[in-house]
Amino acid sequence: MPDNPVPARRGALVVAVDGPSGSGKSSVSRAVAAELGVAFLDTGAMYRAATFSVLAHGVDLTDRAAVAAHVRGVALDLDLDAEAGDRAELVVLVAPDGARRDVTTEIRGAEVTAAVSAVAAVPEVRSDLVLRQRAIIESACAAPRPGRQPGIVAEGRDITTVVAPDADARILLTASEAVRMARRAGQDGAPDATSEAVRAAVVGRDALDARTTSFTTAADGVTTVDSTELDFAGTVAAVLAVVRR
Ligand code: C5P
Repeated sequence: MPDNPVPARRGALVVAVDGPSGSGKSSVSRAVAAELGVAFLDTGAMYRAATFSVLAHGVDLTDRAAVAAHVRGVALDLDLDAEAGDRAELVVLVAPDGARRDVTTEIRGAEVTAAVSAVAAVPEVRSDLVLRQRAIIESACAAPRPGRQPGIVAEGRDITTVVAPDADARILLTASEAVRMARRAGQDGAPDATSEAVRAAVVGRDALDARTTSFTTAADGVTTVDSTELDFAGTVAAVLAVVRR
């Protein structure tokens, strides 16, 4: 794992948010970024896009070296605009032919969700994507888009601990398992929040991911925001309160 975190960025605001599946971290982080006028980075979307490409090219998921080599050749182009809508516009540029393909919808599908933890568990994939994430954070601080403030809200599983442990605000967003399953079912339009499919996408994936990243308990200096009893607006307000503090 790369061990040189993002250097101090004067005048820019970096907010790191981690949390388990269904904690609402993407939508909450996006709203917080919009409120602060800074960029937004969904790192899960990067792992998902890498996984989409791995699957689309028929790379053997059990061949870690092949997976890492493939991901290294995949260029990801993410829209960091927090106001772009509900989900980040994302384009994956697939090597070697360089064809651009918008995979915003595909990366949320069941196939990618079932395979992403295996791809994210490959150490070389992680170090590759962590370096790209740090570069994105750097550039959002150094060269914000016109009309935006320098800074970024970045969310994922290892942002507070690995990608940006030196962030100005570090937050672990949690919620009870039942609430997280209900939220995931709502997002996916699943009729039953306690179904096996929803359980696999939330509890099963967290168990797999917990082998690779630490997102269930707050590291030193990380503030926990428990959204079990909060609605969306209340959760955004709670996160903003931590940032402003
Ligand atoms: O947040 P989301 O559910 O979209 O993340 C998809 C997957 O990407 C996670 O299940 C995890 O395997 C991986 N991930 C990761 N590190 C991050 C963000 C996501 O390993 N920082």
